[in-house]
Amino acid sequence: MTIRIGVIGTGAIGADHARRITQTLSGGRVVAVNDVNRAQAEAVVARLGLDARVYDNGHDLIQADDVDAVLVTSWGPTHEEFVLSAIAAGKYVFCEKPLATTARGCLNIVEAEVAAGKRLVQVGFMRPYDKGYQLLKQAIDAGQIGEPLMVHCAHRNPTVPDSYVTSMAIVDTAIHELDVLRWLLDDDYKTVQVVYPKRTRHRFEHLADPQIVLIETQKGVRIDLEIFVNCQYGYDIQCSVVGETGVANLPEPQSLLLRTEATLATNILTDWKQRFIDAYDIELQDFIKGIEQQQLSGPTAWDGYAAAVAADACVLAQESGQIEPVVMAERPTFYNK
Ligand code: NAP
Repeated sequence: MTIRIGVIGTGAIGADHARRITQTLSGGRVVAVNDVNRAQAEAVVARLGLDARVYDNGHDLIQADDVDAVLVTSWGPTHEEFVLSAIAAGKYVFCEKPLATTARGCLNIVEAEVAAGKRLVQVGFMRPYDKGYQLLKQAIDAGQIGEPLMVHCAHRNPTVPDSYVTSMAIVDTAIHELDVLRWLLDDDYKTVQVVYPKRTRHRFEHLADPQIVLIETQKGVRIDLEIFVNCQYGYDIQCSVVGETGVANLPEPQSLLLRTEATLATNILTDWKQRFIDAYDIELQDFIKGIEQQQLSGPTAWDGYAAAVAADACVLAQESGQIEPVVMAERPTFYNK
């Protein structure tokens, strides 16, 4: 059985997902594509040698009889309408983050999915599929470091363009930690605060960089998350979980250990696309497998909603300088594990 997939939005990640479905993964085939820029969709079809129809409109693609499942990889503000449309059509949908640009929009999707009575949505949060984070979670769940008490995280990029503004440190950057830490700790957030250290000279004037997000979880774990997007030296993701009896650190990406000229060194990645490259493959293969088995298991619409609520609270905290509560709706039993 081959799952026939339609891709809405053939920009950077849409084209890359189409490539992995075509060249790397098994069980799926791209049969339809759409982009507001039709020439771009046609170029992807030509480049990948796809036997796929190009649609002028994402909704027509969703309705097509020969499309079993939809990938929403268009611009964030369009995600909600396409995901709702796929749910209404009873089709499985993989939506890149953000699920919607507002928490209310995410809740609309949650409500539509619950009303449909079947899990149809997977959100493109890929870090839970990363081998390193999975090792961390196994250690925590097995009790190897006792109860987690504190988590120290860093999310560092070498540079960002001048279109990157202060709130993007949350909605584009910290959003990945906001998702993966809930999953890692099996916990929800209670409060957030954002504090600003001395600013780096290597930034555009309008941007507060670095920032520290301080989080308290419902179980009382304290998380400090450094966001530093002009750190110059590399793309560096750190996560250290301190428990009652030990500490578990996210493994570094595999790299040659070099001894030369009185130096012991390993390379640090600079391109974010390389850091979780295997996780992108695994998350999408899991989506295809979930459709085959009629049971999705990846990040849910509820996870998309939870990340959006936390991000909203963090953006508020950036502006207010205060400790802000993270207030979520009651979780429908539909999403109980
Ligand atoms: P991108 O290169 O700008 O691609 C988005 C594409 O969607 C563009 O080709 C855009 O066309 C098209 N588009 C906009 N509105 C549309 C509509 N109404 N119907 C159909 N197509 C439409 O951006 P990207 O980097 O691929 O990001 C896409 C999404 O993936 C974003 O939400 C981003 O946050 C997410 N993402 C997630 C990760 C991750 O780590 N999980 C990584 C990268 C991106 P125009 O260019 O003509 O506007």
